[in-house]
Amino acid sequence: MNCPYCHYHDSKVIDSRDANDGVRRRRQCLSCGARFTTYERQQPTSLFVIKKDQRREEFNKDKLLTGIRKACEKRPLPTGTVDKLADDIEAELYHQSKSEIPSTTIGDMVMESLKKLDYIAYIRFASVYREFADITALKQEIDNLVSNEVKAPRPVSQLPLLPAEELETADRRRQGSRR
Ligand SMILES: [Zn+2]
Repeated sequence: MNCPYCHYHDSKVIDSRDANDGVRRRRQCLSCGARFTTYERQQPTSLFVIKKDQRREEFNKDKLLTGIRKACEKRPLPTGTVDKLADDIEAELYHQSKSEIPSTTIGDMVMESLKKLDYIAYIRFASVYREFADITALKQEIDNLVSNEVKAPRPVSQLPLLPAEELETADRRRQGSRR
């Protein structure tokens, strides 16, 4: 670890203590004398994903992120939502401290999160991930969503299922009041 101030390559440890999940070391640069802190953490062991065809593939967060991003494309979600979702799922996967995880488990986790976030993104992700055989299966899934929504009030954070339609109605209302 180079000195953050003068980039000298060597330092001495002046204090060392256990932090939550690693070791915190107070160091002093041997060249300029500046003090800085380093944290030593254990690297999570590599995680493998078991695909549907039983092939193993190292877990790739970028791939996860791409899938979620595609599903959320052009949805009015707050900045950072997609990244946070991927971060949370990654953290949970490593937290399970297994070396292998079926891809279906990860898919289910994404589906659960998207369902709470945005129905359109959820349906988009589901249509790729579940490979709906035909339009009937897709309609069934949407019907389930809609009937659940009637039973339970929509969570505050949930965006309307058909925003375009709602906007249209609002537009018509506004036009009407102008007359
Ligand atoms: Zn230095």
